[in-house]
Amino acid sequence: MTPAAQRTGSPAPGSVPDDATRDIRRARLEALAVAACLLIAVGAGTLGMWLSCVDTVHNNFRQHLIELAQSAAQQVDVELHARIRRPEQINGPEYRRAVAPLRRLRLGIRGIKYVYTLVRDGPDIRFILDAADPGDNDGDGVEDQSQVWEISHNKTRAIQLALPRDGKPGVPAATDEPYTDPWGTFMTGYAPFYDAAGRQAGAVGVDVDAAIYVARMHTARNQALLGLLPAGALILAFSFAFYRTRRRGLAPLRGVATAARRDRLTGLANRTLFMSRLDQAIERVRAGQQPRFAVLFLDFDHFKLLNDTLGHEAGDELLRQIAARLRSTLRASDAMSDEPGGNVVARFGGDEFVILLNELQLDTDVARVAERLLNALSPAYGVGGREVHSTVSIGIVTSDQCLESGEAIIRNADVAMYEAKRCGRACSVVFNEAMSTRLTRHVTIESGLRKALGTSQLSLVYQPIVELESGAVTSVEALLRWEHPLLGRVSPAEFIPVAEESGLIVPLGDWVLQEACGAFLAWRRQDPARAPRAISVNLSRAELALGPRLLDRIRDTLARHDMPAECLQLEVTEREVMRDPQASRTLMQELRRMRVRLAMDDFGTGTSSLACLREYPFDVVKIDRSFVSDLVAERDVLALIHATLTLLENLGKTSVAEGVETVTQLAILQSLGCGCAQGYFFSRPVAAEAVLEVCSARWQTEPTPAGQGAAVSVPPASSAGTGR
Ligand code: C2E
Ligand code: MG
Ligand code: MG
Repeated sequence: MTPAAQRTGSPAPGSVPDDATRDIRRARLEALAVAACLLIAVGAGTLGMWLSCVDTVHNNFRQHLIELAQSAAQQVDVELHARIRRPEQINGPEYRRAVAPLRRLRLGIRGIKYVYTLVRDGPDIRFILDAADPGDNDGDGVEDQSQVWEISHNKTRAIQLALPRDGKPGVPAATDEPYTDPWGTFMTGYAPFYDAAGRQAGAVGVDVDAAIYVARMHTARNQALLGLLPAGALILAFSFAFYRTRRRGLAPLRGVATAARRDRLTGLANRTLFMSRLDQAIERVRAGQQPRFAVLFLDFDHFKLLNDTLGHEAGDELLRQIAARLRSTLRASDAMSDEPGGNVVARFGGDEFVILLNELQLDTDVARVAERLLNALSPAYGVGGREVHSTVSIGIVTSDQCLESGEAIIRNADVAMYEAKRCGRACSVVFNEAMSTRLTRHVTIESGLRKALGTSQLSLVYQPIVELESGAVTSVEALLRWEHPLLGRVSPAEFIPVAEESGLIVPLGDWVLQEACGAFLAWRRQDPARAPRAISVNLSRAELALGPRLLDRIRDTLARHDMPAECLQLEVTEREVMRDPQASRTLMQELRRMRVRLAMDDFGTGTSSLACLREYPFDVVKIDRSFVSDLVAERDVLALIHATLTLLENLGKTSVAEGVETVTQLAILQSLGCGCAQGYFFSRPVAAEAVLEVCSARWQTEPTPAGQGAAVSVPPASSAGTGR
């Protein structure tokens, strides 16, 4: 709703009406439809009743007229009547005698205006007797007892029926409707009368004032219509009740529909609503109704960890607080508003929040919003009396970059969010195509690796570790190789992290362990004198996280291969150890108890806490290749390595310098008292079949004072042919 509409409570002109207004309209329309239907039904009933009432009154009245005429006909003295001839005898004594009973009838019954007899005279009809008094008795200016012989309405159907031509027998009849003549407006009943021989002698007509008929019809009509009034009132009341109930019924219905589009925990929009609003935004940009929009994909860093350690209720509370901060930061007028131009904040599930920013003028605006979000979300949250920190990684896509479909936009925002995580989290990253390419490769690698498991695409190579004092190979490190059918050789530095993320590292690591132990024992069987004394296998973070299951796996492997535990060395990087220091220490102590040797890999690349060297039961510490490569050029690196080597010696740990490539590096390391070294200088990693040959080489090394150049004689021992 627009702010104006919120104030007035009704939708602003041209804006989309809110739900309540729509409910009222809908209920009103439905009630009107119901009322109209009822009115039609009741109207039809009333009309039927009305017609039948009118018809009954009409028939009754006509019957009444006929009966009056019949009783008049019985009063006619037919013989006397036959003798009367107008106009000579009118009002003569015979006439008066003949008309007397008719006069009595006329005066005795209210409403009868005229009673008279009629006879046929060829095509004409003539009056004979007329019960009216001579003169104008009713003051209408017309003589009541007319001198007229021929009556004007002799053509009416009723007269024709009662007094037919050609001597046919007549039947009693009455006029259908009121008619008007010079004497007034009447309805008339006719009845034939017969002479002694049974021949029709004439007919009697009884004129009744039509006003009576009209009044009766009027009453009948009114009564029928009166029935409409209560029916109409009932309809009104019913329709109003219907309207009220319907309005009340619609609100919860809308509630259900709205709930289906709302995230239960936070009250924000859910995926369904978000996607429909995103589709609208795409349409509006395509139609030129808004310049651009942006989608921000937010994922909270280490949320799962917080959820697991604090408990789910605290996790829910944290999500609610996050939602509140998002709302207030964006001033999203109403996350659930139906207005097409409004911002939408949605929760897609878990700790994934997605924001649609509509009506962006510049694509740089989104960076400012992202900055505001990062600032608003970074302060600590108070959850269950504790302070909790949860930073957020934000991936951004604008409609300038992608307008293909809602799904594609979300996918790209997600890709950018992953990039933000890769870039060290707690930051925002705007999507670009390179990220997508990287992700595609990631996906290819993941699915390829899944298929590669258990096939010859995967193999192990071994790199010797040389003891500098004796120049002998003491152990070899097993390194994984993967030959992808299309991508070719993929570096473990690339596919191991993918395997970790997807969980594939667990079966993969198991395979490496079995394969390495198998190879080691094969060398021992083949040539115990030349075989390395130990084999080193790398462990990844996910394998460390296996905890007791990892211990079982190693115990089983050693037992199955009947391999002495001290021949197996496990390499763990400092960074992985520090992810969960307590659990790592427990695990390592267990491994030490089993007499498995432990090496800290890539020392110097993590937090490099020297205390860590003392606290963890490592036998070997491998100084990272990056230090070794800087050794010659940078004096402080030399000092650093010197200090580290001294410390390791004092702690009784074996030092291994990684990535030794030149004779100079080797000479310096030796002069600093480094125990062992590994690197291309000695040998590249080689296939299992070449290991014994590499191990038989003995590197002659002569220590010289530090920094005085190489004094190492390296026999081009028959090594390295199989270098990889
Ligand atoms: P890492 O354990 O530190 O292994 C040493 C890496 O340095 C190997 O790279 C090796 O080929 C390389 N290297 C050795 N000497 C030299 C040298 O003189 N110069 C240079 N430039 N490089 C040298 P690789 O085989 O590519 O392995 C990379 C990383 O992948 C390994 O680092 C290890 O962390 C991981 N990795 C390899 N195989 C496995 C495995 O089976 N399991 C697990 N979890 N990780 C593995
Ligand atoms: Mg290693
Ligand atoms: Mg290493």
